[in-house]
Amino acid sequence: LPLGEAIVKCTSFAAELTAEKLQKLFADFKPRVVKQPLSDFARLHTSVDRFCELSPRSAEEVADIVGLAAALGIPLRTRGNGHALNGSSLPRAGELVISTSELTAVAHLGVDSISVGAGAILWDLNDSLRSRGLYLPVINDGYRGPSVGGYVAAGGFGPGSATAGGFWNNVASLTIVDGRGALQRPKRNDALFPWIFGAMGQLGIVVEAELDVATCDEAIPLGRARDLHPSRDVPDRKAEDEAGRLFWFTLFVRSADLDEARARLKTLEQEHPATFAFRNRYTYFIHHRRIVAPLLWPAGVDCYAVGSWGIVHDAKPNLLERILAFDHAFTELAMSAGYRRYLQSEVPAGPALYSRYFGADLYARFRAHKDKQDPSELFNRGWVFPWK
Ligand SMILES: Cc1cc2nc3c(=O)[nH]c(=O)nc-3n(C[C@H](O)[C@H](O)[C@H](O)COP(=O)(O)OP(=O)(O)OC[C@H]3O[C@@H](n4cnc5c(N)ncnc54)[C@H](O)[C@@H]3O)c2cc1C
Repeated sequence: LPLGEAIVKCTSFAAELTAEKLQKLFADFKPRVVKQPLSDFARLHTSVDRFCELSPRSAEEVADIVGLAAALGIPLRTRGNGHALNGSSLPRAGELVISTSELTAVAHLGVDSISVGAGAILWDLNDSLRSRGLYLPVINDGYRGPSVGGYVAAGGFGPGSATAGGFWNNVASLTIVDGRGALQRPKRNDALFPWIFGAMGQLGIVVEAELDVATCDEAIPLGRARDLHPSRDVPDRKAEDEAGRLFWFTLFVRSADLDEARARLKTLEQEHPATFAFRNRYTYFIHHRRIVAPLLWPAGVDCYAVGSWGIVHDAKPNLLERILAFDHAFTELAMSAGYRRYLQSEVPAGPALYSRYFGADLYARFRAHKDKQDPSELFNRGWVFPWK
């Protein structure tokens, strides 16, 4: 299409943009048309059947792609490693997918810092660091899954949070591409920085991160990252978990509320015996360090992440509805007790839920950052804020 024609068509009829049209518009960036739908870790949702995907190899290339998308009014869907539960990495009609899978370069910046592409998988990165006697203070528990950018989008905590705090306390700076296609480098003391954690990709595409690293005192076999991060009541891992159909529901609570929260979760599990085979309730301590991530835990004190998790053995009938029914009760528990929850990494989604969960003040402040960072609402459009 000639550019002028494309602009008119795209801004008015984004949903009519076929994968093939997008492929022509973004021909300079080696696009490919994917002809089968994508899913994510939960396998509750699928994407459109055909979509156009780009896998840029540098921050500058991401900036050029977003700049063109902004000029054409084309909505974007950022995809890391597809390990979310809520379908947030799955393209809808008319969306162009930007995969971070080729953004994996690592540079060592000094003894206690590395720069890494947002598509690097945390566990792989940690294993490669350990072969050099280093490690990441905070990574996810469970399995190999989240990319660096996806972990930032969710927020990020793990066993190492007991001493090192949230992931937001262990990142020195981020390189992001905003909704105009400009590169920004917020540092840990900048006002925008803590809002990016748990923002679900709304404030920009994370393309690189400067991460703190620590020194291993002992040689630990590769592939056993969690042994470096002893914690309390971490989940039992079983072979069947790897098959998926595993769901978790996490509260953030003050230390004084921990026992009560665990008791409430136990009651909730007993009230919903049919959907999940529940596992041991897990608890992680998250040490408060200077930086507070408002979308995750807005209080400047330590907290616990405490949760229920379970395997679904019987996917039929109406698995999504049954899970959402449990989740609804979980949200009510969190809100009535004044707890927070790790909404960013779990099943439910949508502007109505986020608006209610965050509350008027926090949601409005989040929205103000969104308006500055992504005025055309290109990133995961309509996912967190309503799209007119
Ligand atoms: C087995 C397993 C264990 C887990 N354990 C933990 C844990 O211990 N602690 C914890 O905190 N979380 C945990 N999680 C949750 C996980 O961190 C989040 O779901 C995370 O977002 C997944 O990263 P991803 O790269 O797969 O992102 P995707 O699923 O690809 O994307 C998730 C969201 O992030 C956005 N996104 C992805 N990459 C970027 C980027 N570069 N820039 C901007 N937005 C982006 C996407 O658009 C989407 O909205 C776990 C998940 C799984 C499946």
